[in-house]
Amino acid sequence: MRKPLIAGNWKMYKTPKESLAFLEGFLPLIEGHTRDEIVLFPTMSSLGYVIDAAQGTNVRAGAQNMHWLNEGPYTSQTSPTMLVSIGCRHVLLGHSELRLYFNETYERVNLKLKAAINHGITPIVCVGELLAEREDLQTEETLRSQIRTALRNISPTEARRLVIAYEPIWAIGTGSTATPEVAAEAHTFIRHELAQCCGQQIADNTRILYGGSVKPENIASLMAQPEIDGALVGGASLVPTTFAQIVHYA
Ligand code: PEP
Repeated sequence: MRKPLIAGNWKMYKTPKESLAFLEGFLPLIEGHTRDEIVLFPTMSSLGYVIDAAQGTNVRAGAQNMHWLNEGPYTSQTSPTMLVSIGCRHVLLGHSELRLYFNETYERVNLKLKAAINHGITPIVCVGELLAEREDLQTEETLRSQIRTALRNISPTEARRLVIAYEPIWAIGTGSTATPEVAAEAHTFIRHELAQCCGQQIADNTRILYGGSVKPENIASLMAQPEIDGALVGGASLVPTTFAQIVHYA
């Protein structure tokens, strides 16, 4: 059984005060909800506050990125040991906004993935094609290359806690969601690639989330697809009532 995971990526929004105000509104709305795992990804400046405020609830909080080393002369970076020290157990890796604007590569995602696994942090590795790649019928080739590079030298045992987020870049922040069928087709392909890299058992157990303009109006039809194990939600995760509606999809 793959327990569904609904994650909220807050990108570069919300001060610590605003993050805590979100929780105040959100926690009562999802109290006792155990069907899905719920993880928020605030900015680094809010992360410790959110982790502390969510203690003892059904909500977890993770980092939007991290370095793969424990310390060093890397201005602006946060290490896995630093995340663990504040109780952080989830990290987003390879988000398309990092790939597009900050030159993130899947070689680095691979190093970060290994580090996350070694530190007991659950990694959510983002993959997804550009619109031009989809139009050129290159979607599968792109996904294959992203997955194979990210998972290089990761053993099946190490891949046990891996989560993948399929986020077609043309659907992120654009309002145009992939249809449930298009998303499910990509998820099936990703699971097939996971089986090639890590074996069928890992592929069968790995949660694959869909991300890209998920809203209360489309979450139910996406989650009705057996291949879709949850969602990574950007814009619609910023408002407590909207995100709670997504968590409570029928
Ligand atoms: C995201 O940031 O991962 C995302 C999917 O954004 P949005 O839901 O706003 O498209």
